[in-house]
Amino acid sequence: MELLNNFINGAWTKSQETEGLEVINPANQVVLGKVPVGRATTKDVDAAVNAAATAFPGWSNTPVMERVQPFYQLKLLLEQHKRELAETITLECGKTLSESLGEITRTIENVEMACATPALIQSEFSEDIARGIDEFMIRQPVGVCACIAPFNFPGMVPFWFFPYALACGNTYIVKPSEKVPLTMNKMFHIIEQLDLPEGVINLVHGGKESVDSLLSHPDVKAISFVGSSKVAKYVYATAAANGKRVQAQGGAKNPIVVLGDADLEMTTKIVADSVYGCAGQRCLAASTIIAVGDSSGTFQEAIKESADKRVTGFGLDEGVDMGPVITPESRQRIEGLIKKGIDEGARPLIDGRNPKISGFAKGNFIAPTILADLPMKSELMRTEIFGPVMNLMHMDSLDEAIKFINNGQYGNMAALFTASGASARKFRKEVNSGNVGINIGVAAPMAQFPFSGWKDSFFGDLHGQGRHAIEFFTQTKVVVERWPKEWNRKF
Ligand code: NAD
Repeated sequence: MELLNNFINGAWTKSQETEGLEVINPANQVVLGKVPVGRATTKDVDAAVNAAATAFPGWSNTPVMERVQPFYQLKLLLEQHKRELAETITLECGKTLSESLGEITRTIENVEMACATPALIQSEFSEDIARGIDEFMIRQPVGVCACIAPFNFPGMVPFWFFPYALACGNTYIVKPSEKVPLTMNKMFHIIEQLDLPEGVINLVHGGKESVDSLLSHPDVKAISFVGSSKVAKYVYATAAANGKRVQAQGGAKNPIVVLGDADLEMTTKIVADSVYGCAGQRCLAASTIIAVGDSSGTFQEAIKESADKRVTGFGLDEGVDMGPVITPESRQRIEGLIKKGIDEGARPLIDGRNPKISGFAKGNFIAPTILADLPMKSELMRTEIFGPVMNLMHMDSLDEAIKFINNGQYGNMAALFTASGASARKFRKEVNSGNVGINIGVAAPMAQFPFSGWKDSFFGDLHGQGRHAIEFFTQTKVVVERWPKEWNRKF
């Protein structure tokens, strides 16, 4: 099988690497493609950086109104190709078609938001800060920027960054996850139709070698990373040590607190969607559910029933609510964690290991699982499982729940279900989390808001999307100008 091509300097280019990894459909292990991974991908990175650096002077001097025009075209093309892009996501990543379509919707929202860059990038001006002196701050692009993406949103994640980066006048390199490189290849077949100069945006494949090459290349000025916390920390430290701007989004262990006054029907449905959507492989997926107070028995029954009803299967099949996890290794790891939790004393209300999925015996399937009464000292209590496993807990008060959450390592999302405004207000004020949901199960910020994240869920300062992206992808220049009145006489 031929290795996937890169897109460098406006052309599809063979990788200099001859070795690669198979891209595999997680529902049936069918090989869908082969992606270059290995030492020689560093040469691909060099070529891409060279193309982006060469394109930078021309692109950065193009007026911002012209720079955003291709994104109006991109929005229309993405809408036209929505279904085929979504099918590719489902095939290589496993999520259901409706989840993949939702991913493309969020992708398009970022393209739309980037079209607002001319308004967002405007300078600030102060006249007469002293007699005859004006001062103003302008935003200029930083240079060649790159993003390194995870497997779980193969279409959307690069769009948190590159539309804004380009609109701000930077040139760009996208490095998708080697587990799901096909969606971005399809995206670039669309991107190549845009009226963009050669080298302004490039695609390189690869694994650690290509990442390390981006992190150390002197001509790369800014790195956006999304993935696990361990790698995020490494990327943050390495890129920063090499003098680059970095924003590195990491992993999560998201809690939802359910108070006794919450609407039971709505809450159980939304909580189950949060835990089991995308087979739990979502950085905003809830995995720890804390029922507070006396009504937790009723909630337990309702959530069990809701989880039990979910249909696991191939994401393109009708009526399927949840697809497989990404790799056989991932399935083994998650099943190992479930076993460990049970060995440590957890009560499996539903044990989703080894489900029988007719026609998909080889798939990496795990059905919805609920573990109750997990001991506090269990490894699962704090480990990111990234699979369809709910840790169902009971606590006596909202204070106790907030204290437990704030002691955690991660801070990507925390949510509360309640009918009480006072409880909601207390929660959103006190909880240490970058994204907060009130009666919302997946508190994913719209494109005009930053995709926040605290503690080990984020390393850096400015986040992706919206205004933060404009700030990340520009450097400020402050100009102080003196034009003495007396000089007027000369003209
Ligand atoms: P990952 O960290 O394994 O890989 C992410 C990227 O890093 C890939 O492109 C990969 O090629 C590269 N990479 C992997 N190991 C590397 C290494 N040792 N050195 C250099 N580069 C390396 O993450 P994943 O498994 O693809 O994605 C799942 C993780 O991403 C989960 O932890 C999830 O919570 C997180 N995630 C976070 C967010 C967020 O917004 N915070 C969003 C999506 C996913």
